[in-house]
Order: sequence, then structure tokens, then C-alpha cells
Amino acid sequence: AKDRGKSTVAAYDSRLHAEALDRLELRADLQRAIFGNELVLHYQPTVELETGKIVGFEALVRWQHPVRGLLSPAAFVPMAEETGLVVQLNTWVLFQACRFAAALQGDWRRPSMAVNISAQQLVRSDFVEQVDRALTESGLPADRLTLEITESVVLHDLEDVIPRLSHLRSRGVRVAVDDFGTGYSSLAYLTELPIDVLKVDKSFIDRVASDAQGASVTEAIIAMSHTMNLSTVAEGVEVAEQAAWLRQVRCPIGQGYYWSRPVDEDGVHDLLARPTNE
Ligand code: C2E
Ligand code: CA
Ligand code: CA
Ligand code: CA
Repeated sequence: AKDRGKSTVAAYDSRLHAEALDRLELRADLQRAIFGNELVLHYQPTVELETGKIVGFEALVRWQHPVRGLLSPAAFVPMAEETGLVVQLNTWVLFQACRFAAALQGDWRRPSMAVNISAQQLVRSDFVEQVDRALTESGLPADRLTLEITESVVLHDLEDVIPRLSHLRSRGVRVAVDDFGTGYSSLAYLTELPIDVLKVDKSFIDRVASDAQGASVTEAIIAMSHTMNLSTVAEGVEVAEQAAWLRQVRCPIGQGYYWSRPVDEDGVHDLLARPTNE
């Protein structure tokens, strides 16, 4: 029995060791990926509920890994956060997304572009300068860029963050609170934050068609958003019942698989060429 115990421990150790090695390898790989050509952006449309027209896109990063294939952000963004690489990663995303949005040409209303911003990026003293440079280099008008920030990030360092966001907003950049309702949700702070949009988390939208209580909370969030003159985006809309319910409670904008999964650049052009967007 003693021997068996020993070999179990040994097996366990070697598995941990393999995982650690795996993570180390992935970390070195990511550093290379950011400067190489392995990161790609997919884009998911946000849709005006009233008309079905596309009003914007959210840039969502993927890693085209040479051996592991296409990796979702869940597989590497947490590691990028831990190692600080997320600053370089998100800077790449910001510039790339602005360039792509600025180059979109067509008869449709020009869509806005939303990018995810992390805490580590926001607290850097050169953050405003970075955003300015991305806009200048790409030629994207400031009012077509939205920065998505989670509640915990904004509340993290209010004194530094509020003036920065205010400054960017004074140029026309829009600020969205991402995953609203999942964080510390201090409603008191909400009135003091320089924001334009609430993105209501998917966990709320999941319940609207099936659960009366869940629906009433979501309806209250949307009503509050109206009162505060904020726009509202419902995240993770998957079925027609949810879209219909959201229209009924006057939520202006939706995002989710019901309209489209995140798509590559060609997919964006295809979506915009559809007759509903004319
Ligand atoms: P998020 O910002 O909340 O992004 C929305 C996520 O929900 C995306 O997953 C999107 O594909 C997914 N989604 C959209 N509609 C639906 C739906 O109807 N049903 C379901 N089940 N899912 C839906 P994705 O692309 O895997 O991204 C996951 C998270 O990774 C993002 O959550 C965001 O927090 C993070 N992320 C993505 N791109 C970046 C980035 O460039 N930088 C940073 N720092 N984080 C990123
Ligand atoms: Ca987001
Ligand atoms: Ca979100
Ligand atoms: Ca979410």
C-alpha cells in the first residue's frame, strides 16, 4: 500500500510539473505571438433592436497558435493578465481594431468599434496618449471608438481613472461598463463615473424569457440606464424571445449569437453588405 501511495504522488507531481511546463511554454509563445503575426481579431456586431441594423462591432482577440490551433481568449488572456503581457496584447488590439474600423467603406452608417480595456492598461500614465495615437494613426473619428471597462476596473483606482476617462470622453471617445451586474455593482458610484453605455451581462439576459423575477431585475437596469441617459447593450442574446422582450422594454441595442457569432474581417464585410444595413 505504501508503494502505491508513493507512485500516486509521483504521478501527481509529474502531472503538476507538466502543467507548469505547459504554462511556461505558452507564456514564452504568447510573448512571441504578440510581436509575430499569430494574434487575430474577430468581430461581433451590436444591433439596433428596433431596426435590426448593425451599429457597431466588438473586437475579440484570438490566438492562431501554430501547434494548438485557434485559441479562445479564456485560454490565454488570464495568463496575459498575470504576467503583465496583457498591456502589449491590448495595445495591439486597440491599434488593429481602429485601423480595421477606419478602413470600412460602404453605403451603410459607419459602425463604431468597441475594444476591451484591462486594469493594467488603464492605470498606466501613457494610457490616454496610447488611445490618442491609435486614433491619429488610424484616422478613426474618436466618436466611433468605445472602450469597454468592467466595473471592478473602474472602481479599482477611481482618482486616477476618472480624469482619464473624462478626458477621452471630452474628445468624443465612448466608455462602456462591460459585464454590468456581475461586479461589485455599487450603484452609488455609477452616477459619478464618466460613462456612456451599460452592457448588461449575459447572465441577466439568459433569464428574461423564462424567469419573471430575473426579467424584472433586467427591466429595472434598463429603466435606470434610460434615466441616467446611458445607452444599453444586452449581451449574449441567443433567441428571438429574448430579442422581442428587449424591444418591448425599450432596450436600444443587442449583441449575441441570435444575430451573429464573432466573425473574421471577411465576415464583417459580408454582414455589412446585407440589405438590412442599407
Ligand atoms: P466579453 O467582453 O464579455 O465578450 C463577450 C463574449 O461572449 C465573447 O466571448 C463572445 O463570443 C461571447 N458571446 C457573445 N454572444 C454570445 C451568445 O449569444 N452566447 C454565448 N454563449 N456567448 C456569446 P470570447 O470572444 O470568447 O471572449 C471572452 C472574454 O475574453 C471577453 O468577454 C473578454 O472579457 C475577454 N477578451 C476578449 N478579447 C479581449 C481582448 O482583446 N483583450 C482583453 N483584455 N480581453 C479580451
Ligand atoms: Ca467586452
Ligand atoms: Ca461583456
Ligand atoms: Ca460577459
